[in-house]
Amino acid sequence: MSKIVEDYKADCENCFGLCCVALPYAKSADFAFNKDGGTPCKNLQKDYRCRIHSDLRKKGFKGCTVYECFGAGQKVSQVTFRGKNWQEHPEEAQVMFEVFPKMQQLHEMLYYLKEALGLEESRPYLTQLKKAMLETERLTELSPTAILELDIPRHRMGVSDLLLKISEDVRSKIRRKTTKVTKTMGLIGANLKGADLRGSNFRGALLIAADLRKADLRSSDFIGVDLRNADLRGANLTGSIFLTQAQVNAAKGDIHTKLPPQLNIPHHWVE
Ligand code: SF4
Repeated sequence: MSKIVEDYKADCENCFGLCCVALPYAKSADFAFNKDGGTPCKNLQKDYRCRIHSDLRKKGFKGCTVYECFGAGQKVSQVTFRGKNWQEHPEEAQVMFEVFPKMQQLHEMLYYLKEALGLEESRPYLTQLKKAMLETERLTELSPTAILELDIPRHRMGVSDLLLKISEDVRSKIRRKTTKVTKTMGLIGANLKGADLRGSNFRGALLIAADLRKADLRSSDFIGVDLRNADLRGANLTGSIFLTQAQVNAAKGDIHTKLPPQLNIPHHWVE
Protein backbone atom coordinates (compact mmCIF):
# COMPACT_ATOMS: atom_id res chain seq x y z
CA MET A 1 0.00 0.00 0.00
CA SER A 2 1.30 3.49 -0.84
CA LYS A 3 2.46 5.73 1.98
CA ILE A 4 -0.21 8.39 1.22
CA VAL A 5 -3.04 5.89 1.56
CA GLU A 6 -1.43 4.12 4.49
CA ASP A 7 -1.00 7.33 6.52
CA TYR A 8 -4.45 8.72 5.89
CA LYS A 9 -6.68 5.67 5.72
CA ALA A 10 -9.43 4.64 8.10
CA ASP A 11 -8.23 2.24 10.79
CA CYS A 12 -11.60 1.00 12.05
CA GLU A 13 -9.95 -1.24 14.67
CA ASN A 14 -8.78 1.90 16.49
CA CYS A 15 -11.97 3.91 16.03
CA PHE A 16 -15.20 3.79 18.03
CA GLY A 17 -17.41 3.59 14.93
CA LEU A 18 -17.59 7.37 14.74
CA CYS A 19 -18.73 7.64 11.11
CA CYS A 20 -21.53 5.16 11.87
CA VAL A 21 -22.79 7.33 14.74
CA ALA A 22 -21.80 10.96 14.22
CA LEU A 23 -22.96 11.38 10.62
CA PRO A 24 -26.56 11.56 9.40
CA TYR A 25 -27.81 9.82 6.26
CA ALA A 26 -31.05 9.77 4.35
CA LYS A 27 -32.90 6.85 2.83
CA SER A 28 -31.82 6.73 -0.79
CA ALA A 29 -30.02 4.57 -3.34
CA ASP A 30 -27.03 4.80 -0.98
CA PHE A 31 -28.70 4.04 2.38
CA ALA A 32 -31.56 1.71 3.21
CA PHE A 33 -33.02 3.90 5.98
CA ASN A 34 -32.80 7.38 7.55
CA LYS A 35 -30.44 8.08 10.42
CA ASP A 36 -29.87 11.27 12.42
CA GLY A 37 -26.40 12.55 13.23
CA GLY A 38 -25.35 11.46 16.73
CA THR A 39 -27.52 8.32 16.64
CA PRO A 40 -25.81 4.94 16.24
CA CYS A 41 -26.66 3.10 13.02
CA LYS A 42 -28.85 0.06 13.71
CA ASN A 43 -26.20 -2.11 12.07
CA LEU A 44 -23.42 -0.99 14.41
CA GLN A 45 -22.58 -3.59 17.06
CA LYS A 46 -21.40 -2.92 20.61
CA ASP A 47 -17.81 -3.77 19.55
CA TYR A 48 -18.01 -0.99 16.92
CA ARG A 49 -18.09 -3.42 14.02
CA CYS A 50 -20.68 -3.33 11.29
CA ARG A 51 -23.06 -6.30 11.38
CA ILE A 52 -23.41 -6.29 7.58
CA HIS A 53 -19.86 -5.24 6.67
CA SER A 54 -19.32 -7.90 3.99
CA ASP A 55 -22.72 -7.31 2.46
CA LEU A 56 -23.13 -3.52 2.50
CA ARG A 57 -23.85 -3.07 -1.20
CA LYS A 58 -26.32 -5.95 -1.38
CA LYS A 59 -28.18 -4.67 1.71
CA GLY A 60 -28.60 -1.15 0.33
CA PHE A 61 -25.69 0.62 2.07
CA LYS A 62 -23.55 1.52 -0.93
CA GLY A 63 -22.97 4.93 0.70
CA CYS A 64 -20.94 3.30 3.48
CA THR A 65 -18.54 1.73 0.96
CA VAL A 66 -17.69 5.08 -0.60
CA TYR A 67 -17.07 7.03 2.60
CA GLU A 68 -13.51 7.73 3.68
CA CYS A 69 -12.55 9.43 6.95
CA PHE A 70 -8.87 9.66 5.91
CA GLY A 71 -7.89 8.44 9.37
CA ALA A 72 -9.95 11.02 11.27
CA GLY A 73 -11.82 8.29 13.16
CA GLN A 74 -8.76 6.83 14.88
CA LYS A 75 -7.31 10.33 15.46
CA VAL A 76 -10.44 11.50 17.31
CA SER A 77 -10.79 8.21 19.20
CA GLN A 78 -7.16 7.70 20.22
CA VAL A 79 -5.58 11.17 20.21
CA THR A 80 -8.22 13.84 20.75
CA PHE A 81 -10.19 11.79 23.30
CA ARG A 82 -7.26 9.56 24.39
CA GLY A 83 -9.07 6.27 24.00
CA LYS A 84 -12.33 7.33 25.65
CA ASN A 85 -15.36 5.96 23.82
CA TRP A 86 -18.87 7.38 23.59
CA GLN A 87 -20.52 4.32 25.13
CA GLU A 88 -18.59 4.55 28.41
CA HIS A 89 -18.36 8.35 28.37
CA PRO A 90 -21.76 9.57 27.19
CA GLU A 91 -21.03 13.01 28.70
CA GLU A 92 -18.38 13.51 25.98
CA ALA A 93 -20.26 11.88 23.13
CA GLN A 94 -21.79 15.03 21.65
CA VAL A 95 -18.46 16.87 21.46
CA MET A 96 -16.82 13.77 20.00
CA PHE A 97 -19.44 13.61 17.25
CA GLU A 98 -19.00 17.30 16.48
CA VAL A 99 -15.21 17.09 16.36
CA PHE A 100 -15.23 14.08 14.01
CA PRO A 101 -16.42 15.83 10.79
CA LYS A 102 -13.99 18.72 11.44
CA MET A 103 -11.14 16.25 11.86
CA GLN A 104 -12.24 14.49 8.67
CA GLN A 105 -11.80 17.73 6.73
CA LEU A 106 -8.34 18.31 8.21
CA HIS A 107 -7.25 14.76 7.42
CA GLU A 108 -8.56 15.03 3.87
CA MET A 109 -6.33 18.10 3.42
CA LEU A 110 -3.39 16.14 4.82
CA TYR A 111 -4.04 13.36 2.31
CA TYR A 112 -3.84 15.79 -0.61
CA LEU A 113 -0.82 17.60 0.81
CA LYS A 114 0.97 14.31 1.27
CA GLU A 115 0.18 13.31 -2.30
CA ALA A 116 1.41 16.70 -3.55
CA LEU A 117 4.68 16.24 -1.64
CA GLY A 118 5.43 13.18 -3.78
CA LEU A 119 4.87 14.94 -7.11
CA GLU A 120 7.82 16.04 -9.20
CA GLU A 121 5.99 19.27 -10.09
CA SER A 122 5.86 20.19 -6.40
CA ARG A 123 9.58 20.84 -6.12
CA PRO A 124 9.24 24.65 -6.27
CA TYR A 125 6.61 24.47 -3.52
CA LEU A 126 8.28 22.06 -1.10
CA THR A 127 8.80 24.59 1.69
CA GLN A 128 5.20 25.80 1.50
CA LEU A 129 3.90 22.24 1.32
CA LYS A 130 5.84 21.12 4.36
CA LYS A 131 4.71 24.19 6.28
CA ALA A 132 1.07 23.54 5.34
CA MET A 133 1.39 19.91 6.42
CA LEU A 134 2.92 20.79 9.76
CA GLU A 135 0.31 23.44 10.44
CA THR A 136 -2.56 21.11 9.47
CA GLU A 137 -1.09 18.33 11.62
CA ARG A 138 -0.80 20.79 14.50
CA LEU A 139 -4.50 21.65 14.18
CA THR A 140 -5.44 17.97 14.37
CA GLU A 141 -3.69 17.73 17.73
CA LEU A 142 -5.61 20.56 19.39
CA SER A 143 -8.10 20.02 22.21
CA PRO A 144 -11.73 19.19 21.29
CA THR A 145 -12.87 22.73 22.17
CA ALA A 146 -10.10 24.32 20.11
CA ILE A 147 -10.92 22.07 17.11
CA LEU A 148 -14.56 23.11 17.28
CA GLU A 149 -13.52 26.76 17.20
CA LEU A 150 -11.30 26.38 14.12
CA ASP A 151 -12.08 28.33 10.97
CA ILE A 152 -11.59 25.31 8.73
CA PRO A 153 -12.85 26.94 5.49
CA ARG A 154 -10.20 29.65 5.93
CA HIS A 155 -7.44 27.12 6.52
CA ARG A 156 -8.66 25.12 3.54
CA MET A 157 -8.44 28.20 1.30
CA GLY A 158 -4.68 28.46 1.88
CA VAL A 159 -4.18 24.72 1.28
CA SER A 160 -6.38 24.84 -1.79
CA ASP A 161 -4.46 27.73 -3.37
CA LEU A 162 -1.24 25.83 -2.97
CA LEU A 163 -2.66 22.60 -4.40
CA LEU A 164 -4.11 24.52 -7.34
CA LYS A 165 -0.70 25.94 -8.28
CA ILE A 166 0.74 22.42 -8.26
CA SER A 167 -2.24 21.13 -10.23
CA GLU A 168 -1.68 23.81 -12.88
CA ASP A 169 1.95 22.76 -13.22
CA VAL A 170 0.98 19.07 -13.57
CA ARG A 171 -1.72 19.82 -16.14
CA SER A 172 0.28 22.39 -18.12
CA LYS A 173 2.62 19.61 -19.22
CA ILE A 174 -0.18 18.19 -21.32
CA ARG A 175 -0.64 19.81 -24.69
CA ARG A 176 -3.76 18.76 -26.51
CA LYS A 177 -6.09 20.31 -29.00
CA THR A 178 -9.32 18.60 -28.06
CA THR A 179 -12.29 20.24 -26.33
CA LYS A 180 -11.53 21.60 -22.91
CA VAL A 181 -13.87 20.27 -20.25
CA THR A 182 -14.68 22.56 -17.36
CA LYS A 183 -16.96 22.04 -14.39
CA THR A 184 -19.27 24.78 -15.67
CA MET A 185 -20.26 22.46 -18.53
CA GLY A 186 -23.14 20.10 -17.77
CA LEU A 187 -21.20 17.02 -16.80
CA ILE A 188 -23.86 14.99 -15.00
CA GLY A 189 -24.53 12.05 -17.29
CA ALA A 190 -22.31 13.60 -19.99
CA ASN A 191 -21.29 11.43 -22.90
CA LEU A 192 -17.50 11.63 -22.84
CA LYS A 193 -16.86 8.13 -24.09
CA GLY A 194 -13.40 7.81 -25.61
CA ALA A 195 -12.70 11.54 -25.20
CA ASP A 196 -9.20 12.92 -24.89
CA LEU A 197 -9.49 14.69 -21.54
CA ARG A 198 -5.86 14.61 -20.52
CA GLY A 199 -4.85 17.38 -18.15
CA SER A 200 -8.44 18.42 -17.35
CA ASN A 201 -9.26 20.43 -14.29
CA PHE A 202 -12.34 18.69 -12.92
CA ARG A 203 -12.03 20.29 -9.44
CA GLY A 204 -15.36 20.04 -7.63
CA ALA A 205 -17.19 18.89 -10.78
CA LEU A 206 -20.28 16.69 -10.74
CA LEU A 207 -19.41 13.81 -13.04
CA ILE A 208 -22.28 11.74 -11.65
CA ALA A 209 -23.19 8.95 -14.10
CA ALA A 210 -20.97 10.47 -16.81
CA ASP A 211 -19.97 8.06 -19.55
CA LEU A 212 -16.17 8.08 -19.41
CA ARG A 213 -15.63 4.68 -20.92
CA LYS A 214 -12.17 4.48 -22.55
CA ALA A 215 -11.67 8.21 -21.89
CA ASP A 216 -8.10 9.43 -21.60
CA LEU A 217 -8.04 11.14 -18.21
CA ARG A 218 -4.32 11.11 -17.60
CA SER A 219 -2.84 13.93 -15.51
CA SER A 220 -6.28 15.33 -14.63
CA ASP A 221 -7.17 16.94 -11.32
CA PHE A 222 -10.02 15.14 -9.49
CA ILE A 223 -10.07 17.01 -6.21
CA GLY A 224 -13.60 17.03 -4.75
CA VAL A 225 -15.14 15.47 -7.89
CA ASP A 226 -18.36 13.52 -7.52
CA LEU A 227 -17.82 10.33 -9.50
CA ARG A 228 -20.89 8.45 -8.30
CA ASN A 229 -21.87 5.95 -10.98
CA ALA A 230 -19.50 7.54 -13.50
CA ASP A 231 -18.54 4.83 -15.96
CA LEU A 232 -14.77 4.46 -15.98
CA ARG A 233 -14.60 1.13 -17.76
CA GLY A 234 -11.43 1.08 -19.85
CA ALA A 235 -10.59 4.68 -18.88
CA ASN A 236 -7.01 5.73 -18.29
CA LEU A 237 -6.46 7.74 -15.08
CA THR A 238 -2.72 7.22 -14.89
CA GLY A 239 -0.98 10.26 -13.41
CA SER A 240 -4.26 11.87 -12.37
CA ILE A 241 -4.00 13.80 -9.14
CA PHE A 242 -6.02 14.22 -5.93
CA LEU A 243 -8.18 11.20 -6.71
CA THR A 244 -9.19 9.14 -3.68
CA GLN A 245 -10.14 5.51 -3.18
CA ALA A 246 -13.60 6.62 -2.03
CA GLN A 247 -14.20 8.42 -5.34
CA VAL A 248 -13.05 5.36 -7.27
CA ASN A 249 -15.29 3.11 -5.15
CA ALA A 250 -18.26 5.29 -6.04
CA ALA A 251 -17.67 4.88 -9.79
CA LYS A 252 -18.10 1.94 -12.13
CA GLY A 253 -15.07 0.40 -13.76
CA ASP A 254 -13.38 -2.81 -14.78
CA ILE A 255 -10.00 -4.51 -14.88
CA HIS A 256 -9.09 -2.40 -17.92
CA THR A 257 -9.45 0.87 -15.98
CA LYS A 258 -5.99 2.27 -15.28
CA LEU A 259 -5.65 3.95 -11.86
CA PRO A 260 -2.81 5.84 -10.15
CA PRO A 261 -0.57 3.32 -8.31
CA GLN A 262 -1.76 4.25 -4.81
CA LEU A 263 -5.36 3.25 -5.61
CA ASN A 264 -6.87 -0.22 -5.99
CA ILE A 265 -9.46 -1.66 -8.33
CA PRO A 266 -12.58 -1.99 -6.08
CA HIS A 267 -13.92 -5.50 -5.51
CA HIS A 268 -17.29 -4.62 -7.02
CA TRP A 269 -15.65 -3.78 -10.37
CA VAL A 270 -14.54 -7.37 -10.85
CA GLU A 271 -17.40 -9.31 -9.20
S1 SF4 B 1 -24.40 0.05 7.74
FE1 SF4 B 1 -22.53 -0.53 8.81
S2 SF4 B 1 -20.89 0.75 7.90
FE2 SF4 B 1 -22.86 1.67 7.36
S3 SF4 B 1 -23.26 3.21 8.96
FE3 SF4 B 1 -24.28 1.32 9.59
S4 SF4 B 1 -22.79 0.27 10.89
FE4 SF4 B 1 -21.67 1.83 9.73
